[in-house]
Amino acid sequence: MRKQIVAGNWKMNCTLPEGKKLASEVIHMVEDEVNNNAEVVLIPPFIHLTGIFNLIGSSSKISLGAQNCHQSQSGAYTGEVSAAMLVSCGATYVILGHSERREFFGETDELLAEKVSFALENNLTPIFCCGERLEVREAGDHESLVDTQVEKALFGLSEDQIRKVVIAYEPVWAIGTGKTASAEQAQEMHAFIREQLSAKYSREVADSISILYGGSVKPENAKEIFSQPDVDGGLIGGASLKSRDFTNIIKAFD
Ligand code: PEP
Repeated sequence: MRKQIVAGNWKMNCTLPEGKKLASEVIHMVEDEVNNNAEVVLIPPFIHLTGIFNLIGSSSKISLGAQNCHQSQSGAYTGEVSAAMLVSCGATYVILGHSERREFFGETDELLAEKVSFALENNLTPIFCCGERLEVREAGDHESLVDTQVEKALFGLSEDQIRKVVIAYEPVWAIGTGKTASAEQAQEMHAFIREQLSAKYSREVADSISILYGGSVKPENAKEIFSQPDVDGGLIGGASLKSRDFTNIIKAFD
C-alpha cells in the first residue's frame, strides 16, 4: 500500500516562537484526534528545523522536512544549505522544485535532477513538485508540460531510487490563489503521472509511489480530493499555518 502523506509547507512564514507554537498545537492535535495512518510532515524554514525537531520528539506520526537544498555536498556557496546538514537537523524530507523556486530562483529541471540525486544519496526523501501555469492549462498543454518536468528531473533515477521519491502535483494557478483544481482534474493528472512512471519503470513501481496534490487544499475540500484513487495526500501551504485547519485536513483520511 502507498504511504498517505500530508505535508505542511510553511514557506517564509513564522518567527521561531510562532513556529514552535504552531508545531506544538499540531503535534498535540494529531496525537489526540487523528485516527489514520497518514504521515504528517512539518516543513518549516531552515533555521527552525532543530527547534521543531526537538518538539516532535519521538512522535511516530510526524516527520520533519525542509523546503530546499543545494546540489553539492559542501563548499563555498554562501547562504546555501546541503542535504547532509538537513539530515543532521532531523529532516527526512525535502521539497524540491516548488513552483516558487522555479519562478523566483530560476530552478530548472536539469538542476532539479541534480538536487533529487543528492537528496537521495543523503537519505532524504525528495518531495518533487511539478505542475503547469494557467496559460499552459488553457492551451491544453498541461500533460505534456508535466511529462517533461517529470522526465527531465526524475527519469535518470534507477528503479530503487525512484521508489524513494514522493511526487507533488501542484498546478501553479491553484497555489495560494484559493482556486483549487477539481477532484477530477487532480485525479486525471495523478493518473497520467502514474502511467508515465509505469511506462518508464513498471506498474508495480508506479503503484508504490505516493503522489500528493497541492494547491489551495482546505478542510472543506480535502476529503473529496484525497478520496481520488491516485491522490495519496496533500502538500499544503496557507492552511498549514493554522493548526486547526491543518489538523482537519489530516483528518480527511479518518
Ligand atoms: C504550496 O505552496 O505548495 C501550496 C500548495 O500552497 P497553498 O496550499 O497555499 O495553495
